[in-house]
Amino acid sequence: MKESLPAVASNFTTLCKKCDAERYHKVIAHVDTTKAKVECEVCGKKSTYKLPSAKKKVTRKRVSKAASAENQWEALKEKTDLSSVAPYTIKGTFEAETAIEHPKFGLGVVTMSLATKIQVTFQDGERLLVHNRD
Ligand SMILES: [Zn+2]
Repeated sequence: MKESLPAVASNFTTLCKKCDAERYHKVIAHVDTTKAKVECEVCGKKSTYKLPSAKKKVTRKRVSKAASAENQWEALKEKTDLSSVAPYTIKGTFEAETAIEHPKFGLGVVTMSLATKIQVTFQDGERLLVHNRD
């Protein structure tokens, strides 16, 4: 929807710099399609009101959590040697920066290896798994 200026002689609220507050302003005249001369109803200050530009109104898409997990996953996959993927079992021992195949979660990359736990990044996010169990 294209924004349009309030009609001449109509009132609308916008910031008055003199009052330093949101005030009713009366539209005195349209300057062009995006600008109008307005007058503050409280202090009488005349100013030019501009429609917010269309570009500024476009809200940037935020990267969702799922999307960032996927980006992380793609980056990890690129720097990991996927030619040897070890099947995951709790009895196995897994080193960081190696790829594993989990029966439920699928392909994952070990990002941290502790004595009995490994942190693994899967396509849908990170998981802490047990390893090195006797
Ligand atoms: Zn004012």
